[in-house]
Amino acid sequence: MDLPHWSQTSVQRFLECPKAWALTYVHTGARRPLQHKQRSPSTVPHRMQVRAARATLIEQLEALYNGEVWSDEQLEGRLMTHLEQSDGSSRRYPFGLEGQRATCLFQLRTLKQTKTLRLLHRQRVATWAYFERSQAMLVRGVRLFAAPDIMLFHQHKWTLVRLRFAPEPHPLVAEMEARLMVHWAMAHPALPSRPDAYRLRTITWRQGAWHEGSPTATQAEQMEAWSMALTDLNAMQFVRRQVLRDGHLAAVPLATKTSACKACSWRSSCLGERSLASAKRDQLEGLLTLHQNEASKSAKTASTS
Ligand code: SF4
Repeated sequence: MDLPHWSQTSVQRFLECPKAWALTYVHTGARRPLQHKQRSPSTVPHRMQVRAARATLIEQLEALYNGEVWSDEQLEGRLMTHLEQSDGSSRRYPFGLEGQRATCLFQLRTLKQTKTLRLLHRQRVATWAYFERSQAMLVRGVRLFAAPDIMLFHQHKWTLVRLRFAPEPHPLVAEMEARLMVHWAMAHPALPSRPDAYRLRTITWRQGAWHEGSPTATQAEQMEAWSMALTDLNAMQFVRRQVLRDGHLAAVPLATKTSACKACSWRSSCLGERSLASAKRDQLEGLLTLHQNEASKSAKTASTS
């Protein structure tokens, strides 16, 4: 059986649209559409930009970890490679690439000037590490995707850093996500299992600049973050069981806002030419018909038995 997993991407998807989440994470046999086909031109470049910037940063950190400091030309060269490779989309959005290159480059250059990254670039800390978000830890039966982007040992504690190239989600979700890094770290075999061995730092790109924050992480706050994650997981598991039991997604709620559909890769198979409101009406009628059929089936069974 698949273990439940928590990741910020998965929760965000679920909150935006339980059906899109189920199509993505529950194995229903639905074929995943080609990634580039249904995205809105206004959202693809942004995702592409974040992905390319993050991939470039990981390579830059890897080089730094091995004692190599990149020049601006190296940074720009690798960034362009990632932007061009990103989903092959550069061919579809040739005029957007220049703007993305400029924004990403500015983000990556100014990131070096943040308090946290300055410590690394000036080699003020001897012990540090970087992680891919895809690295999960098993925490109390849950695969937890909450790896810190960077972790450094400084002033007798491990600082766990969450780096966001896009504006942070709702402040409560952002704090929960940051605090879950502690649960992730405590489950890591090479790291301390005491919650007081860690402090948190967030670095978020907002309104054209990096903002550094230091969320608190008392034991009570960490437990609260874990129970919020469990609440998300329970809701997701409920939908998962429903889909596996019914063998279809007819009863799974659709998106709460039309904006979620604009960037959804399932849009053509889910909505087709309909609006979200009309798809919701169709869903309701379909469910009523289904219930009526089931009610008359059980009435017939009762009368013949
Ligand atoms: S098109 Fe809209 S309602 Fe359908 S799965 Fe995607 S986000 Fe959900």
